[in-house]
Amino acid sequence: MPITRAEAARLARRTGMPVDDFSVNNDGVRTLLNNAHTRACVFLLTDTADLNGEGMCSVYDIRPKGCQTYPYVLNERDEAVLDEGCPHRDAFDAPADDVATSLLNLEERIVQEGSAD
Ligand code: SF4
Repeated sequence: MPITRAEAARLARRTGMPVDDFSVNNDGVRTLLNNAHTRACVFLLTDTADLNGEGMCSVYDIRPKGCQTYPYVLNERDEAVLDEGCPHRDAFDAPADDVATSLLNLEERIVQEGSAD
């Protein structure tokens, strides 16, 4: 999950973890890391690698914007769609009209931050 600089700082403040312990900078885009055992986000409280397994976000109230918007993601035509990889996507309605704009604005902010580094 890509995150902004402000989101990384907020997660570090809340958890006490160094930013590089929960995220990695890939070509200027900072992205949350996955737990090696569960293969899920490092902040997901779970003990299973099963995609349908139980889990709870340990930073839910300050989760990044991309997490708040998920499972809506942008496709290659910059349209908002339900992520094919989400096992619960059938429980969601089609994306509202403003979701693509919100995701494009988020993407632009993350890319701009990366190019400013
Ligand atoms: S909602 Fe929480 S557990 Fe899920 S990807 Fe975001 S930070 Fe990680």
